[in-house]
Amino acid sequence: MSDTPFARAVLRWFDRHGRKHLPWQQNINAYRVWLSEIMLQQTQVTTVIPYFERFMERFPTVEALAEAPVDEVLHLWTGLGYYARARNLHRCAQQVVSEHGGAFPRSVEALSDLPGIGRSTAGAIASIAYGEHAAILDGNVKRVLARHYAVPGWPGQTAVQNALWEYAEVNTPKRRVGDYTQAMMDLGATLCTRTRPQCDQCPVNDSCIARAQGNPTDYPGKKPKKDKPVKAVQFLMLRNPAGDILLQQRPPQGIWGGLWGFPELAREEDAQVHVQDHYGEVVDREIWDSYRHTFSHYHLDITPVLLQLAREPDRVGERAQTWYRLDRPEALGLAAPVKKLLQQLAELDPRALTAAE
Ligand code: SF4
Repeated sequence: MSDTPFARAVLRWFDRHGRKHLPWQQNINAYRVWLSEIMLQQTQVTTVIPYFERFMERFPTVEALAEAPVDEVLHLWTGLGYYARARNLHRCAQQVVSEHGGAFPRSVEALSDLPGIGRSTAGAIASIAYGEHAAILDGNVKRVLARHYAVPGWPGQTAVQNALWEYAEVNTPKRRVGDYTQAMMDLGATLCTRTRPQCDQCPVNDSCIARAQGNPTDYPGKKPKKDKPVKAVQFLMLRNPAGDILLQQRPPQGIWGGLWGFPELAREEDAQVHVQDHYGEVVDREIWDSYRHTFSHYHLDITPVLLQLAREPDRVGERAQTWYRLDRPEALGLAAPVKKLLQQLAELDPRALTAAE
């Protein structure tokens, strides 16, 4: 089968515009390609260049790297982040020396068995260093293919990943496979970028579905957000005969730590019974509409309940408490939903109404 029009266009573009002067594109061998591929995972080209050069100077061969103490490898890696990569790098070098006589294997399968080498990195080494017919699917290539073929969904899902691998395989050319691999990585890194793809300059823009749809940045799909759990609570707004509202200081740990708020009760409990048991006779009760307050890890459904007490109770429990005067508010640290409810209560306060008249 001849090469696809996609592959031909990408190679033509690479010949004219692709980057060919990066350090690992010179004196190509499997060791250099492997080292650059590991360094380039989650890290940009400009950051990687000086690290690559320092590594090559200190460890010119896979044997030199395998023999080095791991601490020295980690030291040279300092600043690149994701240190598991450096440990795997060292283990991989030792395995290449001990099990493969110092020569990286040629096949994707054998390469993938080595520490820290996944299918895409194996494909990059096999194609660039050995000219093997192997596809890659790193982050840049995923983006290009997901957009070009408008593949919906998050690539972390197996079905999406499989669809992208299929497009990657189909388009991998028979000849110049190493150039094609570098071209695809380059295309994703320089033109089909995450936030601002430069479609006008793209070699495959006439067949790109996302471009035709006008929504390249919708691809690849985002990781689905996990549904946050929902907790439900009643805010007990206890009003004494003078019209003041009971506030308690929250414990220092947990949400709204140290701020002032209403006594709380689980949603399923009967607010009136609870308050009569703990604070004394209730002469009136109003249940307000529930609403949702969202934290980073969960939603809190709040049901405010206004309870009019017959008498001001004694201090209840261990917590610091105060009777908050709606007409002369104290400067207290209040959680946002509490502040809002106090404002609403203040609008109903007969003292405020009298003052306004
Ligand atoms: S046309 Fe635009 S969206 Fe499509 S592959 Fe090229 S740069 Fe990416």
